Order: sequence, then C-alpha cells, then structure tokens
Amino acid sequence: MQKSANIYDLSIDELNGLIKSWDEPGYRVAQIWEGLYQQLWSTSEEFTSLPKSLRQKLGEIYSHDKTGVDGQLSFTSLQPIRKQESSDGETIKTLFSLSGGHTVEAVLMKYAKRRTVCISTQAGCGMGCVFCATGQVGFQRQLTSGEIIEQVMYYARQLALENEQVTNIVVMGMGEPFHNYEATLAAIGRLNDPHGYNLGARRFTISTVGLVPGIRRFTSEHSQINLSISLHAADDGLRSQLLPINRKYPLEQLFSACLEYIQVTHRRLSFEWALIQGVNDTPEQAHLLVQRLSVFRMGGSILCHVNVIPLNPTQKYGGIASTHQRALAFQSVLEQAGIPCTIRLRRGIDIQAGCGQLAGQNI
Ligand code: SAH
Ligand code: SF4
Repeated sequence: MQKSANIYDLSIDELNGLIKSWDEPGYRVAQIWEGLYQQLWSTSEEFTSLPKSLRQKLGEIYSHDKTGVDGQLSFTSLQPIRKQESSDGETIKTLFSLSGGHTVEAVLMKYAKRRTVCISTQAGCGMGCVFCATGQVGFQRQLTSGEIIEQVMYYARQLALENEQVTNIVVMGMGEPFHNYEATLAAIGRLNDPHGYNLGARRFTISTVGLVPGIRRFTSEHSQINLSISLHAADDGLRSQLLPINRKYPLEQLFSACLEYIQVTHRRLSFEWALIQGVNDTPEQAHLLVQRLSVFRMGGSILCHVNVIPLNPTQKYGGIASTHQRALAFQSVLEQAGIPCTIRLRRGIDIQAGCGQLAGQNI
C-alpha cells in the first residue's frame, strides 16, 4: 500500500497553502488546526465542522491504514504496539511502530498533579553514550515533526478520557534532539502554538548530550524553553570515555556555549549526572564540577541546577549505580558550594522506562 502523508507534519503555513490550492476558504485552516490540536480528533469523520467533501479529501490523503489494531482509518501514523505500566502505576511506557518498520518509545509520568510526557526524537541514537540503551542500539532514523507530535497527542487523548491533560513535555526519550533540530523545534512550535496544542513554552524541557552548534542556535531562537545538559563528568578524559561526542565538543567549548545561554536568556540551566559507582561519583569529580560551575555565578545567585540520578541498568554497560550514601556525599559537596543539587528518584525501572533505558525493542 502507498505510504500516506502525515497530517501532523504540516506547518500552519503549509496547511494554508494546501487549503488555498483546493480553493477552500481560509477559515478552514483554523477549523482543521483546532480539530487536530485542541479537539484531538484523529479521524477525518470527526471533523464534522467541515463539509463532507473536504473531510473526504483529508481522509484520502492523510489517513493511515490501521488494520491490525482496530481496523479504523486514522490520521495517526504511529501505532501503539505495546503498553507497559510500572508497578506503582505512575509510569506508563508505550512502544510505537513507525511507518517503515522502526520503533520508538514514549513515557507518561504521573507525579502528583504533573502529567509529564517524555518523547523521542529519533529511532535509536548515533551519539554512542556507553551507558544508554538507545545509544547501544545505534542510529536508525530521524523522526519527522509529525511523528514527534503524535507521541504527545497519543497520551493527550488517553488523559482526556480521565479529564486530565499533559502538563509538561520533556524531550528526553530516544535520540539526540539537536541532531534532529529542525523537526524537534518544529514539533515544539506546534505544541506551543496558542492555536495549536497551546502548552506554554516553559513547560518544555529539551535535554542534549552537548551538541555545541545546536545549543548556540537554540539560545538565539528559543529563550523560553528549558534546557538541560547531560554532563556526567567534569574532566574531558572521563567524559570522552562515557560520552564519545565530548571528543568533538570538549568541555571548554560546551561550557562557553552554556555560559552564553545563561547570559542571553537569564535562565537557569540544568545539568544531568548519572551517578556510576566508583566512576563519576567520587569527591574529586564533585569538586571539579563545583569549579566548572562557578562560572555561572551571577550577582548573588548561581544560574544552574544539578540533577543527579543513580545510573539505570542497561544491557551493554557494566557500571553500577552509586549507593544512596555516595549520592548524598556527592550532593553535599555541591550544596556546600551553594550549587543546588537534587537526587532524582529512579522511576519506571521495572518496565525499563527510566532515563537511558529506552531501547524501542519489543522484547
Ligand atoms: N539525547 C539526549 C536526551 C535523551 S537521554 C541527552 O543525552 O541528553 C535522557 C537522559 O538520560 C540524558 O541525561 C542521559 O544522559 C541520561 N541517561 C542515559 N543513560 C542513562 C542511564 N543508564 N542511567 C541514567 N541516566 C541515563
Ligand atoms: Fe543518545 Fe542521549 Fe542516549 Fe547519548 S544519552 S546515546 S545522546 S539518547
């Protein structure tokens, strides 16, 4: 069967052009946009505000054959093929198949009033971080903006059934978002659009392994979206062992881009640090980190925050998580230097939904 186009890939300008080319009135654009992103409609039949002929046309071009799931024709190109729920019920992981055969995972985390969706931007990842399950798979393909959006739409529809909505989006699933910059930021743009999904810019967080050109571009273009840097080591030798991309963008370059981000945006930057017993949880690393972060002191405050998380287990990395005692010791070195540091709880580990555990495999 011929592959359908993805309606979620369309920018508002592209939809405008399409509607114009069909000689339809301009207000149809707003109706379709609202149907997709506010009503969360996923089949052409639901667009009852449109004339039947237009509905049919949209359906013919943009419906995907979902036979095998529920036999319905739908605009969604991602097919949920497995859903797993953590034993505490707070984390739900869904494996989706993409058109063309690859798979990705997205995770819903329900903590107190937050409903956070963690989304993927690539199938696999080419950055090769040694302790990350996605990196261990290798790069498979880029997701389109529509495929990124669909992960959010999927959970938004599920939550709507319980009168709830997505409150936060973290781009911390499979893939390196700045290695797929255009599609990732186009997706966020539509999700943030007041006429689109309308989630405030500050409710998004992008995590990057440290692609310096991406950080610089992001700084100039998207000053309201939260940024998080996966650091994991405070010297180039260790960081290059754990995160090979450090050889291309060593710490000096990375920190200069981070400093620029803070100077331009005046926003607090987060650093992620997976604590690996005896590797990067030593007092030496903690002190080196304090030194590095001291460049972010401005006025009386320090515009950064460190999130440490005991390493999550993955198949192909032998390192083990630091004990809680060592995590506390690491945290206390930072806190004594006035650097805010949170020890994050490991969540969703029983279903491999923790940070760095998404492999996109149906096993
Ligand atoms: N590619 C981006 C975002 C996805 S990874 C990035 O690397 O930032 C999301 C986070 O999980 C990153 O901070 C990453 O370093 C971290 N991570 C990867 N593997 C991990 C593991 N085994 N345990 C804990 N955190 C891990
Ligand atoms: Fe890619 Fe991020 Fe995993 Fe590194 S940690 S391999 S950049 S997904």
